[in-house]
Amino acid sequence: MNGSQKGEWLTDFPGHASVKSLLLKACVSGRLPQSLLFVGPPGVGKFATALSLARFLLCGARGCGVCATCRAVASLSHADLKVVIPTPKEDSEPEAPERYGTFIAEKAKNPYFMPAFKKQPSISIDTIRGVSAWLSYTPASSCERIAIIVDAHMMGTEAQNAFLKTLEEPPESARIIMTTSNPYDLLPTILSRVERFQFGFLTESEIVEYLSKKSESSIAELRLLARLADGSMARALEMLDEEKRRLRNEFVTAFQYLFEPNELRLINWIGEQEKFPLDEFLSVMLSLAHDLLLLCLGADESKVNNIDQLSMIRMLSGRVNVESVQRLIGAIEKASRALQSHPHYALLILSLHQAYSAKDSYNH
Ligand SMILES: [Zn+2]
Repeated sequence: MNGSQKGEWLTDFPGHASVKSLLLKACVSGRLPQSLLFVGPPGVGKFATALSLARFLLCGARGCGVCATCRAVASLSHADLKVVIPTPKEDSEPEAPERYGTFIAEKAKNPYFMPAFKKQPSISIDTIRGVSAWLSYTPASSCERIAIIVDAHMMGTEAQNAFLKTLEEPPESARIIMTTSNPYDLLPTILSRVERFQFGFLTESEIVEYLSKKSESSIAELRLLARLADGSMARALEMLDEEKRRLRNEFVTAFQYLFEPNELRLINWIGEQEKFPLDEFLSVMLSLAHDLLLLCLGADESKVNNIDQLSMIRMLSGRVNVESVQRLIGAIEKASRALQSHPHYALLILSLHQAYSAKDSYNH
């Protein structure tokens, strides 16, 4: 063993020190389980860690990062590595196979990338049968074959049942790494066959440090992004995008209009907008409303996530009452749940104004 390289393969992505140290010990002692489950919030680096682990296992030099094997793993093109991501059912989306390729390419460029689908994605039983068969072949060029199943909870019951046998008795040279943010959607029989590793949120400084290698933005700006990302690197990276930031500023304006006595400015605002992603809009609304509620409840201002909007939130907190803000938060959460049913977006936004002002209208 080359001591100088010890653990280097897991330091390319930030955070999760305890998980990494467990993995490192298991690898070094040769006791890494064949079936692993990485559990934790979305966008914190479960897949990035799986990829880093795969690099170590497939590279002959402990995941050196420079050899052809390591490069092939990083670009998700290694013959002994298979990455499965959930996609919408093919019958309803004929272009799904090409899109799958596009998403894999994105995931190779940015391991934190989370594809967004209009329709509910899933991992089909056919895909799982394919993975099981693939794992049973002799490795092409390494000593093992590794399947990474992203968001394993997107396997339906049928697919999960079809995977049980492989998890129970994996082929000798097979390794299965599954990631999930929702282990409760996995069958107990799946959970009992895997070794579980628990991931937490990333800290602000872990996010800032990683972003500073990717972006020219000032440390103050990156700190704001890290704060807004709420422990998720995927969200922070998304917000590095100029367009996303412009949209957020637009949404901040709309948020203030929610507290106006009538809907006029909100209606004008909606009229001026190009079509935008409603889920983004609602997540900005929720984040700002949470900050507002915190200040209304007398929390310390350092707890505010939208630090660049502190003066606006402080000003609003002196004007609104706790019940109205709670009602608004309830309405935003309800609207988020209703997104799947393709609501009319102007009506949905106006419903937030109505939720907020409902009680006030007879208070005054
Ligand atoms: Zn290597």
